[in-house]
Amino acid sequence: MPSYSGIRTRNLFNPSSKEPFTLSRTKLDLFIKCPRCFYLDLRLGVGQPPGYPFSLNNAVDGLMKKEFDIYRADKTAHPLMAAYGISAVPFAHAKLDEWRDARTRGVKALHEPSNLILRGGIDDVWVNSEGDLHIVDYKATAKASEVTIDEEWQGGYKRQIEIYQWLFRHNGFKVSPIGYFVYVNGKMDRKAFDAKLEFDVKILPYEGSDSWVDEALMKAKAYLVSAKIPSPGSDCEFCDYREAVREVLQPFLKEKSA
Ligand code: SF4
Repeated sequence: MPSYSGIRTRNLFNPSSKEPFTLSRTKLDLFIKCPRCFYLDLRLGVGQPPGYPFSLNNAVDGLMKKEFDIYRADKTAHPLMAAYGISAVPFAHAKLDEWRDARTRGVKALHEPSNLILRGGIDDVWVNSEGDLHIVDYKATAKASEVTIDEEWQGGYKRQIEIYQWLFRHNGFKVSPIGYFVYVNGKMDRKAFDAKLEFDVKILPYEGSDSWVDEALMKAKAYLVSAKIPSPGSDCEFCDYREAVREVLQPFLKEKSA
């Protein structure tokens, strides 16, 4: 697990620099969820501690990429795509590996009005007979009920597809508003584990709109250049927790410094 390094001095926004500043898709999403945490991270150098790595999800992602790549090389639809009546094939492109590299590369585009470079790593992209691209994201879970994308907490999933649509459009591609989630659900009704996990696989279409992205980038930039600390987001309990910790520690800290 990556260790937490506390206050950092690299990859910070410098308000006096004229150079474009690179913002990842996850940081833009952080901004939408909580402008204060976004500011603490990119202006003041205190990011949230990294979460635990989702090793099983990553394994599923990696294997799905390999599986769709077989059909990409053949220029044919994966049987699942055919079963769902999706008239498209996995898109073959020389930059696919770069686009999939979420850590350091991904799909990038400069948003001139804000001078921010937005970037994000995709799971997959399919192309239909009209030459329009469909953004595809793989998701893995294990639950007794059917998978959907209707829960409130899944808003980030939808924004993810919409940001990628924006990025591909800003790279000159024709992009369909319809994206797809290839959602795999681990079966929990087996008698025993037996050293294997089986999955149900569903494709869930999602009609996205990237119309909010430009405005979000402009707002994010306005916060970054400001010297004022933004308000915290409304659906996170950690600020209350931090405040409570500060309150209970204060008498001890005072005593130490006396
Ligand atoms: S509300 Fe949560 S996300 Fe926002 S600054 Fe506080 S801890 Fe960070």
